[in-house]
Amino acid sequence: MHDKSYDIVIIGGGATGSGIALDATLRGFKCLLLEKNDFAEGTSSRSTKLVHGGVRYLEAAVKTLDKSQYDLVKEGLKERYRILHNAPHLAHSITLVTPLYKWYEIPYIYAGLFLYDLISGKKSLGRTGIVGKKQIMDIFPAVKKDGLKGGVRYFDGAFNDARMALALLQSAKEKGCIVRNYSEVTNFKYIDQKISGVVIKDKTSEEVYTVNTKFVINATGIFCDSIRKMDDESVHNIVEPSSGIHIVLDKKFLPNNEGLMIPKTQDGRVLFMLPWMGKCLVGTTDEESHPQEHPKADVRDIEYLLRHMRKYFSIDIKESDILSSWCGLRPLVSLKHTDDTKGLVREHYIEQSKSNLISIAGGKWTSYRKMAEDTVDILQKIFDDTKLHNCCTKNYILLGSRINTEHIKEKLDKLELEEDLRTHLIQTYGSQSLVIVDFIQKFGKEKIHKNYPVLKAEIYYGVKHEFVKNPLDFLVRRVGLGLIDLNATKESLYGVALVLKECFGWSDEVYDLKSKEALKLLNDGI
Ligand SMILES: Cc1cc2nc3c(=O)[nH]c(=O)nc-3n(C[C@H](O)[C@H](O)[C@H](O)COP(=O)(O)OP(=O)(O)OC[C@H]3O[C@@H](n4cnc5c(N)ncnc54)[C@H](O)[C@@H]3O)c2cc1C
Repeated sequence: MHDKSYDIVIIGGGATGSGIALDATLRGFKCLLLEKNDFAEGTSSRSTKLVHGGVRYLEAAVKTLDKSQYDLVKEGLKERYRILHNAPHLAHSITLVTPLYKWYEIPYIYAGLFLYDLISGKKSLGRTGIVGKKQIMDIFPAVKKDGLKGGVRYFDGAFNDARMALALLQSAKEKGCIVRNYSEVTNFKYIDQKISGVVIKDKTSEEVYTVNTKFVINATGIFCDSIRKMDDESVHNIVEPSSGIHIVLDKKFLPNNEGLMIPKTQDGRVLFMLPWMGKCLVGTTDEESHPQEHPKADVRDIEYLLRHMRKYFSIDIKESDILSSWCGLRPLVSLKHTDDTKGLVREHYIEQSKSNLISIAGGKWTSYRKMAEDTVDILQKIFDDTKLHNCCTKNYILLGSRINTEHIKEKLDKLELEEDLRTHLIQTYGSQSLVIVDFIQKFGKEKIHKNYPVLKAEIYYGVKHEFVKNPLDFLVRRVGLGLIDLNATKESLYGVALVLKECFGWSDEVYDLKSKEALKLLNDGI
């Protein structure tokens, strides 16, 4: 890679950078994507996992007659359809129910969610409907029944965010994009005051080198301003991070695979409880914050979520019931003269500096494709090269989703795997499970933890095909165990590190260091 020249260097391997890498590569640009940690280690693995138009924005659109909020919902719903279509192994539809305790709320919430569905038009995932008290009690046996009047059920999308970023990057790589994790951009090179290259620190080897490029795209989320300032110290900040936490609980709260949506908490937020990887995911909060790599879920925020759950459930929920918790930072674009993060714009914002640094910030996971299209459109205009293609990501099927599930099931049947293992492989790797078959034949069917259907063979696959370099790359972002069960992750850590020691030829000291670093993150905030 050293001394090579690229058309575009993309900084940041989260939703935004990964989407841009695929779009630009498919159009014919020669691209390099650099991520300073693991792919999706930032905000993009810490979302609520919803592929959605945003019911909250719709309420704001109706209440304030704000067309831009309405457009945001409409665009989100279009993109929701595309994500479900282009990556069906990672995204699916879910149903969410809102239990209501006041009669007048039923028509109000129903009208809002009916409109939400109406806006999605032909891309609707299912009709919104009213559900009776008895049905709600059947779906959520633990929900409080005193005063319960009924509820509303609607459809939305859910997805595996960390693996979605990976699928985008693998799809880009397949078409010629070079992608590197643990590669930090530390400076720019200039010719005639225009950026002509980037200085990169390889965090694995500590080597520093430069590559030449015609353009640099800054897709670094909450770190957007530090990259803008690396280019021009005098610029004002455009990103104001806002933190949101999640907790994960046992599935007993959502035994029937339907989610629960609380439309308005004490302070006017929306709260979700979603079925996620066999557990119950609860989130989220919205608090002003500052850029940091591994934010920790604050105890007050955890208490806030538990307090609201206690309002809706008759089971006593304690802090010790929490299997895992994590915090993410939204890269919100800041509006001047506002100190309310809930009032900040969720839309994306693209800026081109005098030296040709293109920065993109804001948006949400669901709109990553449109954000990429808008960014690469700008570059395509500047390049003005007739050999470049137009954007073609609207219907581009991602790696892992190109063979139908029946065919994969047939192949996996021959391995005589337990049902939960087959499901895990298909939901995690999609058609790439076929490649894993070879690894299972070579490395066996040993699990990394007795309670979870994750195989040791997948670590070898991860190293060879999924850029795994450290234990938590595998445990948190490739198989998601760290997000759903911290104790099981700690118990699996040393075994996973041992396989990586073998793969990378680590010394005992390096093995110790890597394991300790991972354990510290698991204790302090992944
Ligand atoms: C609590 C919460 C819940 C959310 N829920 C949803 C949801 O349900 N649905 C939805 O659609 N959206 C949701 N979002 C929004 C969504 O997650 C974000 O908008 C999206 O993940 C942002 O992606 P990004 O690529 O811009 O940022 P990031 O994922 O943070 O990626 C930026 C990357 O740049 C890297 N980087 C920084 N500096 C450098 C450097 N110098 N060199 C190399 N790399 C660098 C970072 O390490 C990082 O990985 C949620 C967000 C939060 C916080």
